[in-house]
Amino acid sequence: MIANKQCAKCGEVKNTDEFYARKNTKDGLGYSCKRCLIKSSQEWNIENAEKVKLRDMLRYIKNKQQQSTLHKKWVENNRDKYNQYMRDWRKNNKEKELLTAKKARGISLDRRMANNAKRRAVARNATQLWANMFIIAEAHSLARERTRLAKVKWVVDHIVPLRGNTVCGFHAHTNIQVITQKQNLEKRHLLWPDMP
Ligand SMILES: [Zn+2]
Repeated sequence: MIANKQCAKCGEVKNTDEFYARKNTKDGLGYSCKRCLIKSSQEWNIENAEKVKLRDMLRYIKNKQQQSTLHKKWVENNRDKYNQYMRDWRKNNKEKELLTAKKARGISLDRRMANNAKRRAVARNATQLWANMFIIAEAHSLARERTRLAKVKWVVDHIVPLRGNTVCGFHAHTNIQVITQKQNLEKRHLLWPDMP
C-alpha cells in the first residue's frame, strides 16, 4: 500500500516510498524525503570537506605513530629475539631479498623520481591543509574578539558562497573574511567582489 506523507523539510506531500525507512519513528519512516536527505548530506559533505579530510589524516598519522612506537618499544625490549628473527629471516629469504634488491635497482630513475615527487606533494598538501585550518580557526577567533569588543556581531563569511547558483565557493582560507553580521545579511549571498 502506498500512502502519502509530508516531508518535514521541503513540505511536499509524497508517496511513502519516497522516504527511507527509519527506526524509532511512529510510521517507521524518516521525517525528510529521500531527495531532501540526499541534498542535505551532499551539502554537509561540501561544507565539511576540509574537516573530514583533516580528521581522516589525523587519524591516519596518529595510528601510524602509535604502531611505530609500539614496534620500536617491542624491539627495544626484545633486542636479542629481534636480531635472531632478522638473521633467520634473511637466511630463509636470501633469494627473495636478492630479487627485491635487483628489482629496486631495476626501477628506473624516472619512476623513483616520480615516487619522490609524489611523496613530497602529499607532505605539501598536508602542510597546506594545516595552514588552512589554522587560518580558519584564527578567523573565527577574530570574529569572536571583534564581537566582544564592538558589541556588534561579527561573523566569518564565505566570500564566494558555498552554495551559489553559478559557482560554488570553498571552505578555505582564501575564501573567508570577517565581517559584521549586518554586512553579511545585506550581502544575502547575492554578490561578492569579482562576481562573474
Ligand atoms: Zn523533502
